[in-house]
Amino acid sequence: MTKVTSIVVGAGLAGLSAAYSLARDSIDVLVVERGDYPGAKNITGGRMYFLPIRSLFPELWDEAPWERHIVREVLTGVSKCSSLSIEFSNQKYNNKPYHSFTILGSRFNKWFAQKVAEKGARVINKYKVDDLILDNGKVKGIVVGGAQIEADVVIAADGTMSQIAEKAGLRGKREPQDFALGVKEVIALSPQTIEGRFRLKADEGIAQLFVGSLTKGMLGAGFLYTNRDCISLGLVLGIKDLTDCHLNVMPYELLEEFKLRPEIVPLINGGESVEYSAHVLSESGIKGMPKLFGDGILVAGDAAGMAMNMGLTVRGMEFAIASGALAAEAVRMAKKQNDFSAGALSKYQDLLKESFVWKDLNTFRHAPDVLANPRLFGEYPQLACTMMEKLMTVGEEPKKKLSTTISKELRSRLALSLLRDSFRFWRM
Ligand SMILES: Cc1cc2nc3c(=O)[nH]c(=O)nc-3n(C[C@H](O)[C@H](O)[C@H](O)COP(=O)(O)OP(=O)(O)OC[C@H]3O[C@@H](n4cnc5c(N)ncnc54)[C@H](O)[C@@H]3O)c2cc1C
Repeated sequence: MTKVTSIVVGAGLAGLSAAYSLARDSIDVLVVERGDYPGAKNITGGRMYFLPIRSLFPELWDEAPWERHIVREVLTGVSKCSSLSIEFSNQKYNNKPYHSFTILGSRFNKWFAQKVAEKGARVINKYKVDDLILDNGKVKGIVVGGAQIEADVVIAADGTMSQIAEKAGLRGKREPQDFALGVKEVIALSPQTIEGRFRLKADEGIAQLFVGSLTKGMLGAGFLYTNRDCISLGLVLGIKDLTDCHLNVMPYELLEEFKLRPEIVPLINGGESVEYSAHVLSESGIKGMPKLFGDGILVAGDAAGMAMNMGLTVRGMEFAIASGALAAEAVRMAKKQNDFSAGALSKYQDLLKESFVWKDLNTFRHAPDVLANPRLFGEYPQLACTMMEKLMTVGEEPKKKLSTTISKELRSRLALSLLRDSFRFWRM
């Protein structure tokens, strides 16, 4: 039977980061990825916040295939026939080191995997890890393509639905409200068209979030990110709402409706749809984390539930990269002692607790409860649009005082709920 020091299951950002760190420390590592190539199955929005991970692999970032650095944020509330946008731009976002970048998983992970291979790791594609070799609950390797490969340690970086963490007995039962479904389309446009339509200079990009009637009252939001020569447009929808709801509407239908909105049509007009994807995201934050270590095993990235929806931002990519690197650090320490027991590998959790990953997930631990509020996705965006309509429209009748219009709207609709929800929001 073949034996290696470490096996990484999954060539997403978590797995590649772990493998790169291990190979850089000259630790024998094998990466097994079920996709045709690293990046083939990695779906993200995606905007990556750069500053938290900048110091991890400084030698890599200058040549990374970033799409555009974000210089403008737009938050748009939509009702059936109107929309209200808040735009935020910051000159500082145009200074290096850039605050955040858009990326395409298919390009970025492919490049990252090349760097991993150049460091000396072996990356095998088109193979799904079917099982773990277990001996009295201790992980001793993997079963892949009918063969067994032994290892001192396995890093499960196999994404949100991690079967590897489950097989190792590290994950408990999860509920539909712990997940969301993302559907995304990539629409090709020339860089000049993108820059003209979005008022951007070369390399600059925007991130836009949409909330309101586009999700038909379900927990969720729309997103639009500009890449170098394409736009990423998609929706994230709570799975519990999708399955409970009696609207009988499919996520791809909602995405089609989203594309037909007057705010979107002129932005994607003439573009060619070049990629369509759907993927599950973890929505439960720190509460949804499995046990992160066991005898001969560690869990990183989405497999460990390290994703966070803060309403205004979705984060997971920096958590994946950082947790992969910390898992590798724990393996390096374990190898020094030649001890891969759960006790030795628990160092991973200590390292995580000192890092931004744990701290941010813990700070925003109430976010899933606060966001599980249908008013945020229906009534409030509607209220904002109605109020603007009343303020901006001059009709045949004499116009009322602005204060009268605002207080009437607030009183007649949701004043009490708004107060209660603002108080809940304070917990975030
Ligand atoms: C629609 C959407 C929008 C998002 N937007 C953002 C965003 O804007 N910003 C942000 O930071 N995060 C965002 N996220 C979250 C972010 O993409 C993830 O948190 C991050 O990419 C997770 O990386 P990962 O390596 O842990 O998992 P993944 O990228 O899922 O990688 C897991 C890998 O394991 C492989 N695999 C699985 N099982 C096996 C097996 N048995 N054998 C071999 N290989 C296996 C898969 O093929 C895959 O390549 C978004 C996610 C979605 C779905």
